Amino acid sequence: MEREIAAEGETKSTAVLIRYLCLDLFIYGIVAGISRFVIGDPAPGLSQIGFAVVAAIVFYMTYRDCIDQALMMLYICFAAIALWGTLLYHWEYGYQNFLYIIILILFFNNTYSMKCKVLVSLGIAVVLAFFAAFSFASTDRRDPGPVTFWLNLVAFVSLVMIVGIAYSRKSVESEYKLYQYNKKLQKMAGSDPLTGLMNRRNIMEVMYDLEKRYKQKQLSLSFAIADIDFFKKVNDTYGHDAGDFVLKEIARLLEEFMEAKGYASRWGGEEFLLVFRGFGGENADDVFRLLDDFRGKLSKHVFVFKEMEITLTMTFGLEEFSISQGIEGTIKNADEKLYLGKEHGRNQVVY
Ligand code: GH3
Ligand code: MG
Ligand code: MG
Repeated sequence: MEREIAAEGETKSTAVLIRYLCLDLFIYGIVAGISRFVIGDPAPGLSQIGFAVVAAIVFYMTYRDCIDQALMMLYICFAAIALWGTLLYHWEYGYQNFLYIIILILFFNNTYSMKCKVLVSLGIAVVLAFFAAFSFASTDRRDPGPVTFWLNLVAFVSLVMIVGIAYSRKSVESEYKLYQYNKKLQKMAGSDPLTGLMNRRNIMEVMYDLEKRYKQKQLSLSFAIADIDFFKKVNDTYGHDAGDFVLKEIARLLEEFMEAKGYASRWGGEEFLLVFRGFGGENADDVFRLLDDFRGKLSKHVFVFKEMEITLTMTFGLEEFSISQGIEGTIKNADEKLYLGKEHGRNQVVY
């Protein structure tokens, strides 16, 4: 039932909808046909079985990638049932209801223009008015009995439900796809292409968001700027590709280190900005100890790129956030501390 279609530019959802409608129509045709035979009215019974056969053919067509043709056949089939039933029997038996299904499918399908949908619906309304007038004016209507009434009712309600379910599935699916796409776009716009870390714009947004929460006294907040020592030398000695590799590796290590502590971002070039948000009530003194521990481990880390072994160190400037300094002021102070560390021998956390 749910099998994908091969034809390009056509959606699977329409094919699936047609299949379920055909299955419903097939069962309805067979049951209604047999019931006419049982009652002893075989001619209309044959017509009903004829509709079931058409439904089976349309069902098959959806697997041959003839979706447009299948849909057209289905419209004709619904119109034929409505016309046949309304002209033959009383209006109360509800055969005209099959025309409403056409309107529902029309609005389900995105390939038609709104003008086309409205015009066809108006046309169907005119046909229904004609059916009603004709049916009420005529006196020699047949009475097929309560079984037909109930069968038609069940068929109509189930057909409406099938269109409804298909429509809500389609909208949920497309909404989910849109959500995924937006998330991807957001990630692309907010992340640095080389390291995959948040970029400067994104981390600024995070910081402004945290500032709001800080004001509600829910957390402590510290920022650290990290800069690789003598990174130019890495590029010059091992090549730019090795430099890129080191940046990616450091990004990975920073991300690992920051897990549950806050956020790591690429601030620019070989500089990273770390945002520590109050994890378990720790303050900047605790952050300093953790960061210094990371710095020590990093200085012993060996980066292996194409059998070249690279070691390096990093210098950090750490500043605790305060409202009086604001975000920009806190970053500026962290940056000044970083340069103090550079001036005083590098490979250290200045706090
Ligand atoms: P310091 O200890 O004072 O920070 O020295 P440094 O060599 O790290 O600093 P400097 O600012 O002189 O050089 C930074 C280098 O980082 C220069 C630049 O080519 C390199 N760099 C910046 N972005 C990238 C990148 O994306 N990939 C690579 N491979 N190198 C980068
Ligand atoms: Mg730098
Ligand atoms: Mg540097």
